[in-house]
Amino acid sequence: MKSLCIVADTHRKHRELLIPECDLLIHCGDFCSCRREEERTLDDADIWFAEAPAKHVVCIGGNHDFLLQSREFRFAHATFLEDRTVEIGGLLIHGSPWCPDLSGFAYYATNEQLIEKWRMIPSGIDVLITHTPPFGILDIPSSGGIHLGCPHLRAELNRIRPKLHVFGHVHASHGTHLENGTRFVNAAVVGGRDLEVCHAPTMVDQTPEAEGDASSNGGQRSSLDSGFAPGWGWTIR
Ligand SMILES: [Zn+2]
Repeated sequence: MKSLCIVADTHRKHRELLIPECDLLIHCGDFCSCRREEERTLDDADIWFAEAPAKHVVCIGGNHDFLLQSREFRFAHATFLEDRTVEIGGLLIHGSPWCPDLSGFAYYATNEQLIEKWRMIPSGIDVLITHTPPFGILDIPSSGGIHLGCPHLRAELNRIRPKLHVFGHVHASHGTHLENGTRFVNAAVVGGRDLEVCHAPTMVDQTPEAEGDASSNGGQRSSLDSGFAPGWGWTIR
């Protein structure tokens, strides 16, 4: 596995994105916006997955994706994860769609349910995909002032310690952050009240330091890589 392309919160605008060639395309949920258009949106997203220049596609649902939670829609061209771990290209990847505080939306979970869901995530995985951010990391809305991420997920991360944690949901906090050896990516592509596409997909490259491949980063260890277990890291393109 070499290059990952991460997107989240496409909200029916997936066709406006240009997906670069990559080994793995990850969608962190919220394909849809309104329930009336949901089936057509998911159908088209599945075709878009098939057309993407990616060797593998993995996705989860978000709080707007009711037909995914009900299993009335199934992707033919992506590996769909709901509290499941898969190995793809040598990477252990776990996906879980649940969100706090949004009763009445898809994938809403109570505090007790969230604690249970996050406990199911194996320790030491390579890539964790959630829809919600963890509390305090890339989770501040455009109005500012509050953190919308899940505190139970944040607490459980001390055990899980994934090398890469990708999510979306809080559109205004698109970006990346490095902490305790985990690279965090909020890959939400839309923003504003009209949900316009305002960010490109986030490209993350695996840095194979174990193979002594100093040439891949000009012979210098990138500051972005510090904190990772010896052997490898991720570089944001
Ligand atoms: Zn969302």
